[in-house]
Amino acid sequence: MISKLSIALISFVFLPVLAAEPQVLDAHVHHNGDPTFLKALIKRLDPFNGMAFVLVKPKHLAATKPIIDAHPNRLVGFGDIDLDDPEAVKRIDEFHAAGFRGIGELSRPLKNFDDPKYSPIYARAEQYGMIALFHTGIVNRTTPDIPEDVSVDRMRVLLLDGIARRYPKLTIIGAHLGNPEYANAAEIARWNPNLYFDLTGSTLIKKQEDYTFFKSVFWWSSVASPHTPASGASAFEKIVFGSDIFDGEIEEFDRSLDRYRKMLNACGVSKEAQANILSGTMWRILKRSSK
Ligand SMILES: [Zn+2]
Repeated sequence: MISKLSIALISFVFLPVLAAEPQVLDAHVHHNGDPTFLKALIKRLDPFNGMAFVLVKPKHLAATKPIIDAHPNRLVGFGDIDLDDPEAVKRIDEFHAAGFRGIGELSRPLKNFDDPKYSPIYARAEQYGMIALFHTGIVNRTTPDIPEDVSVDRMRVLLLDGIARRYPKLTIIGAHLGNPEYANAAEIARWNPNLYFDLTGSTLIKKQEDYTFFKSVFWWSSVASPHTPASGASAFEKIVFGSDIFDGEIEEFDRSLDRYRKMLNACGVSKEAQANILSGTMWRILKRSSK
């Protein structure tokens, strides 16, 4: 007879990624291609037994895969594909074959996010049980002198509703809570069990004097009504933690964590719900989709 202890040991040996729940899971880290950045990130995550979804461009896949493979309890690879790349589906196949668990950050599309042109991409990611991280809302313009074919309107948050409904097995994270369309973001998350949002970007800076504002956005905790899905969870659990580190700026991890905690405390979100927001929700989705 196999004892519970041996099952635990077998799981530990064969599934190191699933060994212990991290205290913090950062669902939004851009890899700048520099291996020393990943070293610094791992070091920053260590005190939290932390984990990060690392968004890797196709050109950095070969060099990054061995680093991710060597740190399965710290780094989870996401394929940072371009929706308009004619080879996008093939790239997803390559990332999946390399053990990557998601795609994104999907951003700056030439068509609306829910355009049928992108259906094969979402269908393939769903087939692989991947998580898709979408940019939503306002986006930066770093080279104002150079013309660019980018529009915030193609990345409006309500476009995720149709995608979430069409691909129920695709877990979706919308970055930035639709900035500034927060109420729209929360409402579509309320009815779509496969849709979550992070609060990265300028939102928690903009709202720092008014964090209780988010109680009006995530309003349905413990509301019993046929007009909202039955759930014992806090409405705030539609949020997941992210830092949106880019250009290797690791300090953003601490700043983002601090802002999340201040907002969640100001809104009176329970410790249990905060643990799910900071890691538990995405951790369980990772475990479920690795079976
Ligand atoms: Zn973004």
